[in-house]
Amino acid sequence: MSAENWRMCPNCKNKIKENKKRLIAQAQELKNDPDQYNALIDEATDPPELEETLGEYYYTGSKDNEVKFNYSCQCERCGFKFEYEKKIVMFEKGK
Ligand SMILES: [Zn+2]
Repeated sequence: MSAENWRMCPNCKNKIKENKKRLIAQAQELKNDPDQYNALIDEATDPPELEETLGEYYYTGSKDNEVKFNYSCQCERCGFKFEYEKKIVMFEKGK
């Protein structure tokens, strides 16, 4: 199934941010080693580019008396998944 839409993944975005923090913290401990310090700072300030790896899928439809809304997404890079579904009964039977 091909995605309806592609977005940037919130999990990948968060991982890049956390990695940057970790690299800066490591660099602080290596201040007396300028080569390693600079290498870590360079890596922290030039993170991997965030691409649109999050495929989004939508479904909306009705059957008989019920309407269904479904949204799901999955990241091709980190495997992050999310799904939300809501079913609504259009009218109460027997009234
Ligand atoms: Zn991801």
